Amino acid sequence: MTYFIITFGCQMNTADSERLAAYYEARGFKRAKNEKEADVVIINTCMVRQMAEDRVYGLVNNLSKLKLRPKIIVTGCLVGTANREPSGRVMKYLKTRLPKVDEFLPMEEIGFEYAPKRTDKKIALLPISNGCNNMCAYCVVPFSRGREVSRPFAEIIKEAEDLADAGYEEVVLLGQNVNSYGSDLVKKSLFRNPIPPAGGIGFRDKKFKPVMVKSMGQNRIPTLFPYLLEEVAKIGIDVSLGFKTQANIKPFKKINFISSNPWDFSDELIEVIAKYKNINREIHLPAQSGDDEILKKMNRWYTREEYLNLIKKIKDKIPDASFTTDIIVGFPGETEEQFQNTVDLCQQVNFNIAYIAMYSLRPGTTAEKIADDVPREEKKRRFHALDKMINRKKTQYNANASN
Ligand code: SF4
Repeated sequence: MTYFIITFGCQMNTADSERLAAYYEARGFKRAKNEKEADVVIINTCMVRQMAEDRVYGLVNNLSKLKLRPKIIVTGCLVGTANREPSGRVMKYLKTRLPKVDEFLPMEEIGFEYAPKRTDKKIALLPISNGCNNMCAYCVVPFSRGREVSRPFAEIIKEAEDLADAGYEEVVLLGQNVNSYGSDLVKKSLFRNPIPPAGGIGFRDKKFKPVMVKSMGQNRIPTLFPYLLEEVAKIGIDVSLGFKTQANIKPFKKINFISSNPWDFSDELIEVIAKYKNINREIHLPAQSGDDEILKKMNRWYTREEYLNLIKKIKDKIPDASFTTDIIVGFPGETEEQFQNTVDLCQQVNFNIAYIAMYSLRPGTTAEKIADDVPREEKKRRFHALDKMINRKKTQYNANASN
């Protein structure tokens, strides 16, 4: 039996597809060259924009017309959302909309039991958490992936060490909000033992004092991300020898982390990036908008000024830092003046790349209740204006960038 996986969406979905491949191969399946030659085709779906969702409907239709029709399995965000909706209404809709699908497979059934089948031999995607506890007004991720769940600290470090040992030069730590990593682990640990032991909470063979992230002057969540990033950066490096490599394992040349939320970017995280040269200096920091009113409507927990202050704080500590971002244009009610505030913020930061999206209504989100009143032509104009200003010809528009 052979399988073929078609992946839509972000790097998180690509990482999920690597686990899906491992799952099928553990059951004796072999990877087919293409969907026409496969016995089973698995479609890993994305819902971040309507366009990505529509492509799935078209694809299922085309696959069902193939001469040797494969078994069609749908997984990913569409199934996650339908599965989590308690009334069953969304699953019913999905089944009516996709009658040719043989199975709807929730990603939760796959787990982390098998080593992912990675096709890239240099850059490894390494998921550290899944889901999101933030409720940005436009975003479907909290519905499609559920609440944030962090993978165990030791499990991630072990996988990172294995990757370095296998010769991977680059690793990308993945999560919907990487810098809130470990918040759930800390809370669980404190639930078991409400008085934290002196020296911090034990993870792996070390003790860490969780970093309390602050937003708008208030304590928000405890996180372990600065420690996790440091442990990954240190792999193969003997710090006491002044960053010389150990004999049998090479450090990563580059470590990336995607995506960060500005409101959880702690001072401790900045210190770790500054300390380790193998952590990428091009930091992805989604702004989404440069206007305070729109940010508030989006339920983003920072102001324009706080975002710009964070950029300055990072630049002060890491002079060679540069930034990429995500921007949504045409959010409901966005006026020309508010759009110009975004243009101004982008000019001030001088982003290397911006993944720009035209707002598209997603069912179930709080923004669904606000009239989508910016005409499509106007959204396009704003999109092209920013794209020309920031990206010029450096990159192609990524329709599925999120966060
Ligand atoms: S945009 Fe990012 S932080 Fe906001 S809800 Fe979606 S995944 Fe979470």
